[in-house]
Amino acid sequence: MSRRRSRSAQTYPTATTGFSRDVNRTAILRLIATAGPIARKTIASRLGLSSATVTGITRELLAQGLIHVAEHAPSRGGRPAVLLELVGQAATVLGAKVASDHVVGVRVDLEAQVLERFESPFDAAADDSIERLGAILDDWLARSPSSPPLLGLGIGVAGVFDAAAGTLDSPLLGWRDLPLARLLQERLGVPVLVDNDVNTLAIWERLYGRGERHEHFITVTIGRGVGLGIVAGGDIYRGSRGGAGEFGHVSVQADGPLCSCGKRGCLEAVVADPALVARARESGLLSPGEGIERLMTLAEAGEPRAIDIYGAAGAVLGRAVSGLVNVLAPERVLFSGEGTRAWRWLEPAFEKELRAHLFPAASDVQVEVDPWDDTKWAVGAASLVLRATFNGPLDGRHTNLARARMGAGTSEPTEVVD
Ligand SMILES: [Zn+2]
Repeated sequence: MSRRRSRSAQTYPTATTGFSRDVNRTAILRLIATAGPIARKTIASRLGLSSATVTGITRELLAQGLIHVAEHAPSRGGRPAVLLELVGQAATVLGAKVASDHVVGVRVDLEAQVLERFESPFDAAADDSIERLGAILDDWLARSPSSPPLLGLGIGVAGVFDAAAGTLDSPLLGWRDLPLARLLQERLGVPVLVDNDVNTLAIWERLYGRGERHEHFITVTIGRGVGLGIVAGGDIYRGSRGGAGEFGHVSVQADGPLCSCGKRGCLEAVVADPALVARARESGLLSPGEGIERLMTLAEAGEPRAIDIYGAAGAVLGRAVSGLVNVLAPERVLFSGEGTRAWRWLEPAFEKELRAHLFPAASDVQVEVDPWDDTKWAVGAASLVLRATFNGPLDGRHTNLARARMGAGTSEPTEVVD
């Protein structure tokens, strides 16, 4: 921990602003972003800063166009208080979700509102896949307007991202120990942040979505696989070497079906879409060329065998999630992913099994399922950069580069060496 701190502090461009000033600036910006419109006086009392410090820094932020005066609130006696608010359009961020066969991207503003959407075919198995990914992202960057400034690029990938080592392992994409952020940053010349795709969704939920009011929640994704993002104490829990969240590979069935990880009976091998399709094909419900879309169509039409397949999966999922809830005691379980399109057939058995296995202390946990939209993966990826911009400055050098771009050009990132 101390090693990381000192390294971050050394590499953060402090020459023009001073380190403590930067900490205060980030804290103020973050508070305005999350709690605005807000008065200077409230900022000072919530952050424990002097009025002079708050006035000085907010004056700077106003001059840079990052915040503006939203309104004048009536106050008892005296002059009406000035309420400050973030200017969502003051900067933009690109987010991209890399899948094995395509890349989905978005350009968003500081409030994670989508300004533009991109999608390109991609082949992760190609020998020069990283070069091709760089070319796709380069093209998107070139198509983005130069003003307002771009803070950076966030990338979400299925796999384990080791933040300390800066490397990504993605069995799904066939990438191992890949320093993806560094390679793309060198190629593109903008700050690049990488994380597990479900973590990026959880970060988005925490900053802008259903997790805004919750310090403890889990995001579970279902569809082609089963993923998990854990928010504990208000931030992502990553575990050792970033390996937390491999919920899809929790064993749920002795000698069960073979999983993509090489083991048998993993949750993913029992309830993810490929498993459901395999079961439907075995029973003759689907022919070899038919997939998950056809299975949903059959369930929609009331075909009892299709509904049974979903019901059995829902029951296994409910038991597995009850284990998570008993261990982590989240306030909410937020479901996401393309598999939620089938939620109404999963839900009855899921709810029954979940509630049957919850420990009393966790029994009031709420489960929420949002209508799914593929763009969310990319918005989640963009949230990586937004989080870096508004969080404390000690969580990594790449995040500092993104934040430096908020400094009105005083400290452009110059080096990208790890
Ligand atoms: Zn597995």
